[in-house]
Amino acid sequence: MKTLKLILFICITSFYTNSVAQDVLIEAESFVDKGGWVVDPQFVEQMGSPYLMAHGMGVPVENAITNVNFKEKGKYHVWARTKNWAPGNWDAPGQFKISVNGKVLKNTLGLTSGWTWEYAGKVNIESNEVEIQLSDLTGFNGRCDAIYFSQSKKMPTEAETNLASWRKAKLGETTIPEQQKSYDLVIVGGGLAGCAAAISAAEQGLNVALIHDRPVLGGNASDEIRVHTLGIYGKFERILKMIDTEHYPNGSYKAKYDQERRDKNVKSYKNIDLFLDWRAYDAISENNAIKYVDARNTATGERIRFKAPRFVDSTGDGWIGFWAGAEFSYGRESSKTYGEAWDKWGELWSPEEGDDFVMGASVLWQNEKTNEVHDFPELPWAADVAKEHKAIAGEWQWEFSRNDLHQIDDAEEIRDHMLRAIYGSFANAKKLDENKNYKLEWVSYLVGKRESRRLIGDYIYTFNDVKNLTKFEDAVVEEKRAVDVHYQINLKDSEEPDFLSEALFYKGPKYYIPYRSLYSKNISNLFMAGRNFSCSHIGLGGPRVMLTTGQMGAAVGIAAAICEKYNVTPREVYTKHLQEYLEVIEKQQ
Ligand SMILES: Cc1cc2nc3c(=O)[nH]c(=O)nc-3n(C[C@H](O)[C@H](O)[C@H](O)COP(=O)(O)OP(=O)(O)OC[C@H]3O[C@@H](n4cnc5c(N)ncnc54)[C@H](O)[C@@H]3O)c2cc1C
Repeated sequence: MKTLKLILFICITSFYTNSVAQDVLIEAESFVDKGGWVVDPQFVEQMGSPYLMAHGMGVPVENAITNVNFKEKGKYHVWARTKNWAPGNWDAPGQFKISVNGKVLKNTLGLTSGWTWEYAGKVNIESNEVEIQLSDLTGFNGRCDAIYFSQSKKMPTEAETNLASWRKAKLGETTIPEQQKSYDLVIVGGGLAGCAAAISAAEQGLNVALIHDRPVLGGNASDEIRVHTLGIYGKFERILKMIDTEHYPNGSYKAKYDQERRDKNVKSYKNIDLFLDWRAYDAISENNAIKYVDARNTATGERIRFKAPRFVDSTGDGWIGFWAGAEFSYGRESSKTYGEAWDKWGELWSPEEGDDFVMGASVLWQNEKTNEVHDFPELPWAADVAKEHKAIAGEWQWEFSRNDLHQIDDAEEIRDHMLRAIYGSFANAKKLDENKNYKLEWVSYLVGKRESRRLIGDYIYTFNDVKNLTKFEDAVVEEKRAVDVHYQINLKDSEEPDFLSEALFYKGPKYYIPYRSLYSKNISNLFMAGRNFSCSHIGLGGPRVMLTTGQMGAAVGIAAAICEKYNVTPREVYTKHLQEYLEVIEKQQ
């Protein structure tokens, strides 16, 4: 273990510090011992990098510790890039301190609204090897993105330093990854859709890379987010049962039970190379075809360029398509766009004018009933969002969406709003005597998303296809789960909590999804599977559930093998090899 840490230390210091001049930049996520802090890579595109967060659910977490090699001794000024994530007339929730070689720096951090550099204090560096510690003071989601040591007292400006390019320059990193790997198929995003795509492609003989930015597979179904799966297996029962879970309540610890099995099953395929804790950050295309996907390790910063003739975007957010220039849509279409109006629900179902509302994101959470009394503090910064709402656990209705908040660009604000809703509602419930023995067992820090970008394929799947039971000649996915779309129940009254949603249901018989909705219209070698498939806002209402998205993944894996066999594009599987493709799918049962 010690040897491993030493190797890590050498790698990390060379990747993550710049000692060319008299300044040193340390990416917080590179800390060798993270203590109780977690790496949060969800907002890299907005932040330029992942960050460390003290997610202690009210109990300060263990210190994060790392060692850094300084080339020059002397006096240094120290800053941390951090934020007060719930600013207002109260004590900031996420305060922390930095210590250097055992000396605690003067200033408490996490006090300024919005991401910025806060001054921690001055320190005399007397040895080349320096130990840095982050000490959480509150247990309520303090965050540290980077630490900067400089012999000059000039604070780095936020404008220059929130950019990935500034970091690269400081860390001496090259833009193009030095390592390159080639596969038959590169899949990005290891939710059920990505896992199923990897398994089915591997079973068809392809060499597959599955890149996933978390330590465990399953996306929303994982032990980290804990949404239970719904839908049917369609033609892919055997594959989907390898990655599915027993039906547990949303947020339940029971999500753990099948986590290990899912990961083990995916890992058991020799021709799947699994890149856990790797986040794709770019897709480079030429002549409307993707040549490479670049990915970065979320802790060490190591980069790899992935090359393949074909790619699958199962990131949920359509990242690969977005970077490659694929056409996509976002928000609710006007009822005239596809004729999806339903008089019974009017504007709530399909608005007269299109807008940027989508189904919201959730943070699930759970309590534990114990034999002792557990205190929970009053939290004015959380009460502001929770209002009078009382709860001891969350469910799917804990969801946040607003016309002016983008589910990707503003995801950190959405997640933080949900954290305030949870802590505040729990604090309210704890004031009741009947809840005195409850303690917070688990709060996710990951946003469980339902909807964001939808990549456009040769066919855009809509509510009409459900209603009219459209029989597609290229139907590869089938589902009978009701269509439901959500709306926020209280967005107009600022006195009411705004983080709860309601669902509108349409129940019909089985419906089918065509293969043409599973590859990009304008990027010739890009498949998509999962909630970013080609559909309208209401078209997503049914097929977003995880067994349906799993079916999409399995169907795409097989299509990729047909592409490889005949050296054709995903579109040509439809135009030239449909019969053979459907026959392979038929044999899956
Ligand atoms: C609270 C809640 C309740 C729900 N209820 C249900 C339900 O009861 N049953 C049901 O089946 N569905 C339910 N859904 C919907 C369902 O969970 C989603 O629609 C589904 O997870 C989408 O699957 P996916 O594979 O497309 O995406 P995800 O499950 O989100 O998986 C995509 C994965 O890709 C990873 N990723 C993203 N970008 C990158 C990148 N750049 N590099 C590497 N990895 C990346 C993400 O970390 C993520 O884990 C619910 C959703 C929520 C939030």
